[in-house]
Amino acid sequence: MDIGVAVVSKAWQGFFQEITQWRDLGRTVDFWWRDDDAGRPAPALARLVALANVANTPLALAVIPADVDGMKFDPANTMITLLQHGVDHRNRGATGDKKTEFPASELLSDALARLANGRTRLQQVGGGRMLPVLVPPWNRISAPRLVSQLADAGYCGLSTFGPRRALYAAPGLVMVNTHVDVIDWRGSRGFVGEDLALGQATRHLRARRWGLADADESTGWLTHHAVHDEAAWTFMALLLEATRDLDGVYWRAAGDLFGCQPV
Ligand SMILES: [Zn+2]
Repeated sequence: MDIGVAVVSKAWQGFFQEITQWRDLGRTVDFWWRDDDAGRPAPALARLVALANVANTPLALAVIPADVDGMKFDPANTMITLLQHGVDHRNRGATGDKKTEFPASELLSDALARLANGRTRLQQVGGGRMLPVLVPPWNRISAPRLVSQLADAGYCGLSTFGPRRALYAAPGLVMVNTHVDVIDWRGSRGFVGEDLALGQATRHLRARRWGLADADESTGWLTHHAVHDEAAWTFMALLLEATRDLDGVYWRAAGDLFGCQPV
């Protein structure tokens, strides 16, 4: 892979300059990687896991419990952690509202029962690699009371998109979000491009450095293997290769971020 060509682009330069700023301050840039919508075995999922293994980089797979038929995760693959991506990834929001699997209109007890079922199902295929962290589909829970119940229901964390407002989404529920979406959902539905992907990362790192965002929230890269075009695959491979052994950069595992153990 020819990193030398890519790094001369302005976006890569800005990204590496920001990392250098952190290093000059004696600080370590920490990243983490979340991939959403894992379900049935598929070539794209196998390719994703292979990429994490080759790059020796921890990957948090947000898996849809309703789709895990036929799946079996390798307990020996310590690069992979599973997170719970809702239950069935079905939009229950009212027509015209933003998409959500967890609308305020659903009975709290119903939502909690669904979640518990989904969690059990995921645990059955997870090979002891499942972390009790909820990743709501569309990065959204529209029922605030549900969030306040998640720690009691056995979850240690919640992960959505965008800089967190606080370390805890609710008492006992650590929040660590993603900040870089490599997919252009409103346009091509393929790779968003190096400028936008690296720009999002650079901006989040700068906001952390300047104290405009929580400095301790690891910068999260969000991928969706099922819709990756070749440009998205190439970019992720390049990013991992260019950063994993870079002085002052550290890719963190989900268990470390959320402070809980896989089950
Ligand atoms: Zn999703």
